[in-house]
Amino acid sequence: MATLEIRNLTKSYDGETPALDDISLQIEHGELVALLGPSGCGKTTTLRLVAGFIEPDTGSIQVGGEVIASPKFSLPPERRHMSMIFQSYAIWPHKTIYQNVAYGLKYRGVNGGEAAEKVKKMLGVVQLDHLAERYPGELSGGQQQRVALARALVVEPEILLLDEPLSNLDANLREEMRFEIRRLHDEFQFTSVYVTHDQSEAMVIADRICVMNHGKIEQLGTPSEIYERPETRFVADFVGTTNLLSGHLSGSDRFDLENGIVLPIATQAQIVAEQDVSISLRPHDILLRKPTQNGAGVGEDGYHVYPGTVEECFYFGELLDYQIRIGENCVLRTITPPGNRYGTGDPVNVLIHPDHCVLVREN
Ligand code: ADP
Repeated sequence: MATLEIRNLTKSYDGETPALDDISLQIEHGELVALLGPSGCGKTTTLRLVAGFIEPDTGSIQVGGEVIASPKFSLPPERRHMSMIFQSYAIWPHKTIYQNVAYGLKYRGVNGGEAAEKVKKMLGVVQLDHLAERYPGELSGGQQQRVALARALVVEPEILLLDEPLSNLDANLREEMRFEIRRLHDEFQFTSVYVTHDQSEAMVIADRICVMNHGKIEQLGTPSEIYERPETRFVADFVGTTNLLSGHLSGSDRFDLENGIVLPIATQAQIVAEQDVSISLRPHDILLRKPTQNGAGVGEDGYHVYPGTVEECFYFGELLDYQIRIGENCVLRTITPPGNRYGTGDPVNVLIHPDHCVLVREN
């Protein structure tokens, strides 16, 4: 079983500033975990430690219960049964596509008919069988990355490491390749670590996302947990767009904003009251309605109603992106499907449900 376990890993390049600050993470057999975070947060350092290119200051890395890295011991990269895919593809320019994919097998002592069969099958999987005799320079960026994928997968690694593999591709191709990587993962189920700073890529590709910041893990969870139940201000803001509202808890089901407006919160709020918290409210969770005579209050479906005014409206065809003022110092970004369209200065009722007001810790 290729379970990957990272325990209390610390790494500093200069002996002072930690690039990784005591991270622990378990990746199950066959699972794909994305390390997601801004530049410099420690994603690549984590991957390089797992690959064996650098050694930890403290902590350990285990595969299937066996220690492969600790401050005292480091299994050489070539004995770790891992494949790595880089942003730069790193394929041999003077070898054909076939030879590139066959290379890793040759290195592992798989030759002849067995190797030929495996290469042919893998080139079929990544839809490059018709280009086997071409050289990398004769392929597009997307095709070259498919070669890198085929080369990594053909050796059937215990662990697959991917370092921003789609960053060099243009936007359309990047989107297409996300689905391709997920399809390949579903087919082969290698335990995989995928480094990216692109949240939509992580959402589509990963079973779980590990959000990192300043060398630490902020939150680990499924894409929907990360998006719908962010635990910190950083996660709420980094993954998707949100309204982050400061204030304080004034009861088990209410949160007072600084301007006197009270937002409802669901009683299952997990974060304890003593902590410094804010509210994250996603723009598309807010509903807009024409004002009624009833004014503010609570509707039958549990939505709380706040009178507001449209400050700005941007038309994107498939959606409308509003700035709605509901009080002094309180403007909410609100995204709605096209339909009823409100103009600048129009009064509106803003509907907010307690389930959508997510308490997040300040960092
Ligand atoms: P990410 O992959 O999330 O962009 P990295 O793991 O590359 O982040 O970097 C984490 C921190 O370690 C950053 O502050 C970076 O400047 C530093 N760092 C990375 N590689 C080196 C290196 N070879 N020498 C010195 N500092 C480094």
